[in-house]
Amino acid sequence: MNYPLIKDNIKRIRAMINKTSAKFVSSIMLAANPFNRAHERMIRQAISDSDLLIIFLRKPFTADNLRYDIRHNALTTFIDNFLPQNKVIIIPFENSYIFSGYNELILDAILAKNYGCNQLLVGKNHGGLGLYYDKNRLSSIFDHCKNIDIHIKTVDEYVYCDTCKTLVSTQTCPHGQHHHVHYHSESIMQLIQNGVMPPSILVRKEVSANILAALFPERFDNLQELYYSLMPGLGLLEEQSDEQFYLKLMELYQTSSLT
Ligand SMILES: [Zn+2]
Repeated sequence: MNYPLIKDNIKRIRAMINKTSAKFVSSIMLAANPFNRAHERMIRQAISDSDLLIIFLRKPFTADNLRYDIRHNALTTFIDNFLPQNKVIIIPFENSYIFSGYNELILDAILAKNYGCNQLLVGKNHGGLGLYYDKNRLSSIFDHCKNIDIHIKTVDEYVYCDTCKTLVSTQTCPHGQHHHVHYHSESIMQLIQNGVMPPSILVRKEVSANILAALFPERFDNLQELYYSLMPGLGLLEEQSDEQFYLKLMELYQTSSLT
């Protein structure tokens, strides 16, 4: 059988490896549903210790996810504006696994290996790991992956700590659970699907703006008027997009007086 899409992806990866002379290629599986700050942190961590990072962006066949193109655009917005060039490549990934959890992790590892990756990053709260996170079983996952010949690197869970006032790993922050905001995708999705801009500690404003503009096209009857009456410092008669409107609105949310 011939799978043109897979061939195409392998070609894209090879071309990128040649272009960048990457020696150590890392990979990560993301649904980015939606793309949040903890994902950002994982990606930066991956880039810092490898030459190239391949993000396999899942294409789950379920209705309660954001459309693939919306997730792809949001991720691209981040990569293009906030990461060094030629360090990351996004590969679409048809996720049709019958098994999830433990099997999913093994299949991910095989897939990453087949695409030429040296390492796969896995969140410690990954279902496949979490379910089997007692010592014996965890080691059996790594034994399997040794046969696959790919390095599995686990990444701590990140939370926002309201005392540290930044994104921290639960391993490195002394403050308890009750100070932590978790990156719970379903909850962040509920905000977005109801048209509410998530706090920027959860989702970067550029990403939220991109997603909301795609999900609710032309939702404001009088966007230009709204824009000029609410936003300071704009004398230009330039048409503003929905996306720009959300960005400016978030800047107003973040103004630190009168809170
Ligand atoms: Zn803390």
